Amino acid sequence: MDLKAIIRDVPDFPKKGIVFKDITPLLNNGKAFQYVIDKLAERYQGKGLRSIVAMESRGFIFGAPLATKLGVGFVPVRKPGKLPYKTFQETYDLEYGKDTLEIHQDAVGKGDKILVLDDVLATGGTAAATVKLIEKAGGDVVEAAFIIHLSFLKGQDKLQRTPVFSIIQY
Ligand code: AMP
Repeated sequence: MDLKAIIRDVPDFPKKGIVFKDITPLLNNGKAFQYVIDKLAERYQGKGLRSIVAMESRGFIFGAPLATKLGVGFVPVRKPGKLPYKTFQETYDLEYGKDTLEIHQDAVGKGDKILVLDDVLATGGTAAATVKLIEKAGGDVVEAAFIIHLSFLKGQDKLQRTPVFSIIQY
């Protein structure tokens, strides 16, 4: 399936110079959405995953159907102040400024096999912070998976020991 033809490039969004990969046409194409979830399910079936940890908010869209298909847990990673219970926090650098992500402290147990999942791997800051949150909780990140990998931004370098998988590469 030609997913690149379905994903829409939006130049200068959210700011000048960024070409935003808009996945909403993919989500609104039943066959394409199903194809992406099936591909991921094929790869992670039988790998002994305990949970999928996905990042706010587009990671949730893919993480939830994948988790139910695999019969594994789903854990949200969120912006500060959104999760109601005790959290671990990780602050990371953006191009301008900083951002923080949180996970519930009891969402990942020691030695749990975890898949990290988001829509796009760009500079890698979000995914690297998520891996750190899981490691703080004692979890074992098996792989970080993305629908789209913008490989020219070298996000993989920030992930160091974590293997990266993506369905579409630019
Ligand atoms: P990063 O931390 O730079 O890897 O950015 C990751 C987050 O920003 C992901 O959750 C993406 O959803 C979003 N993102 C970054 N760059 C793009 C882009 N060019 N198109 C769409 N989403 C992007």
